[in-house]
Amino acid sequence: MTRARSERTGAVVRTCVGCRRRKGPGELMRVSFGEEGPRLEVRGGRGAWICRESPECLEMALRSKRILKALRVAGGEGEIEAIRRLFDTGAGGWQSGRDG
Ligand SMILES: [Zn+2]
Repeated sequence: MTRARSERTGAVVRTCVGCRRRKGPGELMRVSFGEEGPRLEVRGGRGAWICRESPECLEMALRSKRILKALRVAGGEGEIEAIRRLFDTGAGGWQSGRDG
């Protein structure tokens, strides 16, 4: 379990597996892998964090496979596609909320 704290505020920060910037949990989305595949914002298990509203970060995380490493998933293209689909459905947040 890696849990870093920002020295200035003492708040919990997480590292985006895409751009590797450190942010608070509220600015990031949590991806985890369940028995049925990737899930968003589900507690439990090993999680990887990606900036909200940032398809670029997702793309970097997928291309580098850092997201699979973070999740300890011994995966390949199938897992990467599954994660990509998860975000394509709009569950990732950057497609929902843009209709206004
Ligand atoms: Zn990021």
